[in-house]
Amino acid sequence: MALDEKAVRERAAAFLAGHDPAGDRLEFLRARFDAGLAWVHFPEGLGGLGAARELQNVVERELEGTPQLDLGVQTIGLGMAAPTILTFGTDEQRKRFLRPLWTGEEIWCQLFSEPGAGSDLATLGTRAVRDGDEWVVDGQKVWTSGAHHSRWAILVARTDADVPKHRGLTYFVCDMHAPGVEVRPLRQITGEAEFNEVFLTGVRLGDDLRLGEVGDGWRVAQTTLMNERVAIGGAPVRRGGGVVGLVTETWRSRPELRTHDLHQRLLRLWVEAEVTRLAGTRLREQLSAGQPGPEGSGMKLAFADLNQALSGLDVELRGEDGLVYDDWTFRRSDTVDFFGRGPGYRYLRAKGNSIEGGTSEILRNIIAERVLGLPSEPRVDKDVPWKDLPR
Ligand SMILES: Cc1cc2nc3c(=O)[nH]c(=O)nc-3n(C[C@H](O)[C@H](O)[C@H](O)COP(=O)(O)OP(=O)(O)OC[C@H]3O[C@@H](n4cnc5c(N)ncnc54)[C@H](O)[C@@H]3O)c2cc1C
Repeated sequence: MALDEKAVRERAAAFLAGHDPAGDRLEFLRARFDAGLAWVHFPEGLGGLGAARELQNVVERELEGTPQLDLGVQTIGLGMAAPTILTFGTDEQRKRFLRPLWTGEEIWCQLFSEPGAGSDLATLGTRAVRDGDEWVVDGQKVWTSGAHHSRWAILVARTDADVPKHRGLTYFVCDMHAPGVEVRPLRQITGEAEFNEVFLTGVRLGDDLRLGEVGDGWRVAQTTLMNERVAIGGAPVRRGGGVVGLVTETWRSRPELRTHDLHQRLLRLWVEAEVTRLAGTRLREQLSAGQPGPEGSGMKLAFADLNQALSGLDVELRGEDGLVYDDWTFRRSDTVDFFGRGPGYRYLRAKGNSIEGGTSEILRNIIAERVLGLPSEPRVDKDVPWKDLPR
């Protein structure tokens, strides 16, 4: 019988009684995983209890104030790699990867985009050629967030050039420490290098690092992408919290900067932030019943629009102070720091929100086609072998 709220609360209390939160952080997190209190909706033995997803809130409440995950660094692992490994991985892969992924001992990145394949990801050209029990991978990826501190990557590569683009792809876990993996920083508009180019030259990956069937990579990638939109746009926020909370604070603390027009804009954005927050709550509830659907695209689209509007308003509200920027040094950041840094950083970093995880234009296409049922874009390359596509 599925566990209810009371049973989950009791498990959390029993766990706390046996493990000191003031002790070693990593040991505490490992033990929490082993107790099934990492993600309660995952199966037993894999960090979960096979319980309803919404009961995770109960665990979070009970374990408040204990060592927590570093969500900024672990976003790709937790939000994208984990649900994909759970859905398509073998038992060995699930056992090998999920625990160190959750505890943060192993950080993950996403090797999807290429210089010629972003929105149209299925056109990608990085090749994986089978050699006995191994695959040899050659190609170039781009915009790879966090590749510089990642132990593993989720990778989509072309294994058959003779079939149409969506059908010749295979999904792998890539060892970022394997010979032939080269990570080069890319400097962003914020000044820092949060993402990278990744060159893959003769990288050998065992067939046991393949996720799903050969040629089924597009279907596996869909699971990642749908989860990615929820991971980026659907994080839980409290009412009046998040970026709207920061802007409201500016409004409260700087009365001399107020105008009627700015007041109207702030009110409108506050309402939009609340609607987006509630839509996120509903989306997470729907997730309890299965995979994220196209609603996740709406969520991510709204999040990007709102974040850009709010970070712009914050800069405007501050007048001349809004033009001050905190740190232009070219450095390797570990995480996206919306709350620890100033309004100038937030304004610049928010520009990427409407590109990363699928551009707003593409998300509008998905909503038009899959939610509103409007006619689809013409797809002339659907039945053409990938090798014959103009490039
Ligand atoms: C901050 C940041 C972090 C990122 N991190 C990662 C990462 O970790 N791993 C990874 O793999 N990728 C990552 N990306 C890449 C991101 O997923 C791609 O940039 C994105 O998918 C868009 O692809 P593109 O840049 O090739 O643009 P293009 O696909 O060339 O698009 C250019 C423009 O044309 C529009 N367009 C394209 N096709 C259509 C269409 N059919 N209809 C309407 N408009 C269209 C697009 O919306 C866009 O405005 C990141 C990007 C950013 C900005």
